[in-house]
Amino acid sequence: MTGLSRRRFLTLAAASTVVAGCADTAADTAPVVTGQGGTAPHRTPVPRPAGRELGAIPVLMHHRLVASSPGTYDMTPAFFRAELARLYRENYHPIRAIDLVRRNFTSVPAGKTPVVLTFDDSTPGQVAFDSAGRVAPDCALGILQTFHAAHPDFPAVATFYINRRPFGLSGADVTRALVRLNQLGCEIGNHTWSHPNLRTLTRAQAEAEIGKLAALVNRAIPQAPARTLALPLGVHPRDPAVLAGGAADGTAYRNLGVLLVGAGPCHSPFHRDFDPMAIPRIRCSSHDGDLEFTYWLDHLAAHPSQKFIASGNPSQAPSSSTTASRR
Ligand SMILES: [Zn+2]
Repeated sequence: MTGLSRRRFLTLAAASTVVAGCADTAADTAPVVTGQGGTAPHRTPVPRPAGRELGAIPVLMHHRLVASSPGTYDMTPAFFRAELARLYRENYHPIRAIDLVRRNFTSVPAGKTPVVLTFDDSTPGQVAFDSAGRVAPDCALGILQTFHAAHPDFPAVATFYINRRPFGLSGADVTRALVRLNQLGCEIGNHTWSHPNLRTLTRAQAEAEIGKLAALVNRAIPQAPARTLALPLGVHPRDPAVLAGGAADGTAYRNLGVLLVGAGPCHSPFHRDFDPMAIPRIRCSSHDGDLEFTYWLDHLAAHPSQKFIASGNPSQAPSSSTTASRR
């Protein structure tokens, strides 16, 4: 990375410190749920989270996993392994995007900070199977599973934002892959049917793009419909309400969370400024030496008071009557 682009990144990073300096002060205020559906937000008081659960949560954005010549959004296996090692060393604990949106932290031990690992575009290097149907060890999920085998308290869960031919598969292989991912505890999210720039589409076209992909997931794993969406190219449609719900292929869809491209850690879902329909992500790429990941991990390590620290006490978490889990 050139000095110029590094300065530009740091400027952008400073401008996007969505959490810096506000998580602590917010601890004195009653948390609320806001912004659901992307339209008129309603504000529902929820029980006060325990301890440090108003702090920030990193949501990591990955794209292709490639062994050589990584592009701007790509990651090499070596960098990905190093990323996992750092997360583990610094007491992060993987959850899925839907867990963040639903404020479900019951899997996170006391003292740990949740982290969400996301993968966009469903490229073959992310998820692959050998001839016996086992997860290939050199794909991103395989690397995550290998890390989990060596560190059993670091779960191998992630959210995969897929398009119409997930992981280069077709036909019955798609169903098999999605069923397997669901069995492994991973989340399948919506990245639209053909990855368009949603702003260039009519409302009906945008609804079809989201709905057709949702229908694909519904057919494969009806017990786990896609409930979060990552915006292709990070671009919003002209009518953002189309993100929250609609229908296509005879199937209704509903999204409880929308993930952005960039740029910084996410507010705690207990924080008053958390918007589930605009969840920022941290770009992970070995192309630039994982600069953005390193910047934010360094920042949170230097400012531990800004980090979400799980209480590990489910009795103090919001009850099901007030959380998103019923939706
Ligand atoms: Zn994408």
